[in-house]
Amino acid sequence: MDDRRQSVLVTAGGSGIGRAIAERFLRAGAEVHVCDVDADALAALEAEEPMVRSYRADVSDEREVAAMFDAIGGVDVLVNNAGIGGPRGSIEEIDGVEWERTIAVNLTGAFHVTRRAVAAMKTAGGGAIVNISTASVRTGMPMRTAYVASKQGLMGFTANLARELGPDNIRCNAILPGLIDNPRGRALVARMADENGRSVAETEAEMLRFISMRCWIDPAEVGDLAVFLASPAARHITGQFIGVCGGAEWEG
Ligand code: NAD
Repeated sequence: MDDRRQSVLVTAGGSGIGRAIAERFLRAGAEVHVCDVDADALAALEAEEPMVRSYRADVSDEREVAAMFDAIGGVDVLVNNAGIGGPRGSIEEIDGVEWERTIAVNLTGAFHVTRRAVAAMKTAGGGAIVNISTASVRTGMPMRTAYVASKQGLMGFTANLARELGPDNIRCNAILPGLIDNPRGRALVARMADENGRSVAETEAEMLRFISMRCWIDPAEVGDLAVFLASPAARHITGQFIGVCGGAEWEG
């Protein structure tokens, strides 16, 4: 990558962590492309951030991803952020269709998007890929095997592409967010409280006890690390898994 303005694609950037990442890249002066399945979320984003270029695309749908790249061309930076929570339940209870949907979005989605982005990065002489995994790959998370397995798959995807693409000056790293202070993170705590018949405050305190810094993570912190990993300052950082989690030690 040279000194011209960076172009970035953030998947699932219509809301949540993806939107925070897109906003951080905007503030850093990048040309930002965002895709999402939720057209209303994209419209709201465009209304507030008119510089963003948005595309309605489901990352698990190869044709929709191809049509998006026909419109974008190439990007210097790809952030594979799209990920769904997947089914909750014991391994015997998990429904096969829900298992496959989780892998399709969280892992195969990254495959569909990355292979198209990489083709253009090779032509351009380099690029950076940032995959959004989860701190739960280190702690494990009972009853969420589809999610954790899909995100572990994304780690293997990251490590392997770092080796394969290093000679092409394309770097590939993963960010492992912890307990994120957004509606999805708060809903997770509320659901656990409900399941265990305890108050939300008690459940939150119990979760924070196993985070070294006893903290929730602002989605913008994930955005800050993504911007750094895409920057020249990180030009020799590849194949790394970096937690933004305050030290996630254990999850129940
Ligand atoms: P979210 O549930 O808030 O969803 C963000 C966006 O993803 C939504 O706008 C949704 O429409 C879009 N989306 C869903 N499926 C899509 C698809 N198939 N194609 C394109 N867009 C799609 O998610 P979030 O909390 O912002 O999480 C973003 C990423 O961070 C995910 O990969 C998630 O696994 C990971 N993560 C989240 C947390 C957390 O606590 N929220 C913690 C660790 C890791």
